[in-house]
Amino acid sequence: MTISQRKKCLVEFRLAEQPFRAGEVAIVGAGPGDPGLLTLRALMLIQQADAIVYDRLVSPQIMELVNPRAERIHVGKASGCHYVAQEDTNELLVQLAVKQRRVVRLKGGDPYIFGRGGEEAEFLVDNDIDFLVVPGITSAAGCASYCGIPLTHRDYAQSVTFVTGHRKADHALDLNWKVLAAPNQTRVFYMGLHNAPTIVRELTANGLSGDCPVALVERGTTPQQHMTVTTLKNLEETIRMEGFQPPTLIIVGEVVQLAEKLAQPAQAGWNSALIGPASATAAQRPA
Ligand code: SAH
Repeated sequence: MTISQRKKCLVEFRLAEQPFRAGEVAIVGAGPGDPGLLTLRALMLIQQADAIVYDRLVSPQIMELVNPRAERIHVGKASGCHYVAQEDTNELLVQLAVKQRRVVRLKGGDPYIFGRGGEEAEFLVDNDIDFLVVPGITSAAGCASYCGIPLTHRDYAQSVTFVTGHRKADHALDLNWKVLAAPNQTRVFYMGLHNAPTIVRELTANGLSGDCPVALVERGTTPQQHMTVTTLKNLEETIRMEGFQPPTLIIVGEVVQLAEKLAQPAQAGWNSALIGPASATAAQRPA
């Protein structure tokens, strides 16, 4: 498909959709980073928005696709360092809507999975602001697929659990470790780097083998993706030796052993799904 045909498709899709109304807030999931993992609805909304309130997790390649005339407001949080307090973000969304802007609150992954999207939606409802939510591909699903890890598989895992590895400041991780350590399941820890020692200690103490395979995925689905397979007992050392930093997922379970067989060597090049200067270079793209 040529670029002009592709643009025409997008325009036709946009015309078929309900217009984004002034004074409305769309809480939109941007997926884990690769623009090719945006939903069509997310793309349509970011192209129509007058204001985009976005997080640190939204990739530069996705920001290239937003309406060039839209006001861009960064409210990202680095781990442990809050640029903008959550209450201020909530208030900002209301103020922009009151000014009759079409507002997109753009969040990494899915807005309702460890993204505080629920809190923001509640605040909008409490303030009589019209809102809609557009789900996104959560990082567990996107990163695991790009790394060749099926999160469930009949031979290895009958369930998958998304777990937060982080609590509000000074709160210890309070999880049902006995349930998480049971066999035949996959556990995906979001924001878990800091608490990796607790994760290893509790899973092991509750019966999970130290040889259980573990994948670490930093900046999955982006050109900077860094993925390593290790074991539970070696997890902390791997994090230290390889210098893993947030955003990183920790995937614990037997499905991780499929990563080598199902590796997607071309997938890293798919970051260029929609062309832009910050995307992967032509040389990185699959032929
Ligand atoms: N709403 C998001 C999660 C927000 S919590 C979602 O659905 O994915 C932030 C955590 O998500 C990070 O600390 C990291 O554990 C994970 N994460 C988000 N994007 C990621 C990515 N591209 N690669 C690896 N981990 C990611």
